[in-house]
Amino acid sequence: MEDIVSLSKRRGFVFQSSEIYGGLAGFYDYGPLGIELSNNLKQLWWDSLVHARDDIFGVDGAIIQNPMLWQASGHVAGFSDPMVEDQVTHKRYRADQLAGVDTTDLTELSKLLKGKKSPDGNPLGEPRYFNMMMQTWVGPVQEEAAKVYLRPETAGSIFTNFLNVKDTMRAKVPFGIAQIGKAFRNEISPRDFIFRVRELEQMEMQYFINPKDQEADYEKWRDFAWNFLTLKLGIKESNLSWHEHSPTERAHYAKAAHDIYFNFPQGPKELWGTHNRSDFDLSSHAKASGKDLSYLDEQSGERFTPYVIESSVGVGRMLLAVLTDAYTRDSVAGEERIVMKFHPRIAPVKVAVSPLLKNKPELVALASKVYAQLKSQFGMVLWDDNGNIGKRYRRQDEIGTPFCITVDFESLENQTVTLRDRDTAKQVRINVDALTQSLKQKLEQE
Ligand code: ATP
Repeated sequence: MEDIVSLSKRRGFVFQSSEIYGGLAGFYDYGPLGIELSNNLKQLWWDSLVHARDDIFGVDGAIIQNPMLWQASGHVAGFSDPMVEDQVTHKRYRADQLAGVDTTDLTELSKLLKGKKSPDGNPLGEPRYFNMMMQTWVGPVQEEAAKVYLRPETAGSIFTNFLNVKDTMRAKVPFGIAQIGKAFRNEISPRDFIFRVRELEQMEMQYFINPKDQEADYEKWRDFAWNFLTLKLGIKESNLSWHEHSPTERAHYAKAAHDIYFNFPQGPKELWGTHNRSDFDLSSHAKASGKDLSYLDEQSGERFTPYVIESSVGVGRMLLAVLTDAYTRDSVAGEERIVMKFHPRIAPVKVAVSPLLKNKPELVALASKVYAQLKSQFGMVLWDDNGNIGKRYRRQDEIGTPFCITVDFESLENQTVTLRDRDTAKQVRINVDALTQSLKQKLEQE
């Protein structure tokens, strides 16, 4: 983890938020390369769901919603984690994490923590629940009636827009609604870099189905998550595993819940959840709002409240998984290097262009022409003429640039350049006119 945190800062992926003031626990800023990587992840997810299919529609809901939404969803009463307090320092910890178990049962946690000390060596209080929703006020008066919540998940406004999307898009069940956006959780102990933060971004898709299709659809969305990680992002299968929630671990309304765990540096932990949420959401919102959220299947004449299969993943967690999976130390011609083996499709910088020598105008002129040509095609293309060529390659390896182009003296004679592959460090000569096409093919390869 230390290596990843340090590379993230050194190379402009992730910074502590408000760093010059000492930072703020649980909040991070993405730097020039981090935002490119995260945008690539989000765009791929969005393309795979909203653009590639005709049964999924996008929305972008407000972060602050009518608080009745969070009452109906159960978050006001129950979006809590068990917490214990150090009796001396008053620092608070997640009781389940201190006990090293996956349960939220206070009696069990109390038993397990009996006699245990806090990480500072002090006695602990009794575990109790702590609500993680962040609050603020709307309007000029800070009174109870003006209290609102920053959304703890994006799903809320997907359910409240069920009718809007169905009617405006003439959608027929089964159909889905996808959303990417910020969510806020007042985590008791934010930790493990961007794994557990207080301001997070989620990619959530709720698929509304006829209850009779629940088993088949559930399996399809489990497959989608696994295939997205392995085929689209190129994450190694050996870093992934399934974790099925036991009946006591999952929410009371959930019929089934499977998480994909990723081998994060701190251990295998949840990356992506697929849950069968039954008709809990639409039924609860129908009851609390008084609106009819049932669905009439015009062909069969059957009326039902759709079940929801939820597919939910954090952007930051996905980015940490991608960084972890890509981080490699190997050696090239006897020299050690750090190389980020991102799939070219998601690499923040696609190509770097270098003139062999920066004080030779003919080399610089041709390299500038190649640079301009590639930049207009691929956007994130870097110009690098600093230091010797070996150093430039090392720098690009560390940010995972899949291809480096060098313009040398031979280029002036026959309009060919060298194309170096990040993973093999092998170089081939390629004609300038064939460059764009060849790179396009290489960037899209499965
Ligand atoms: P955890 O058990 O790790 O707290 P969760 O089960 O509460 O997570 P969900 O409510 O299912 O998580 O949220 C969906 C996804 O959002 C998670 O799979 C994870 O990728 C991401 N996520 C949840 N909480 C956080 C957080 N505090 N920081 C970063 N990502 C998060």
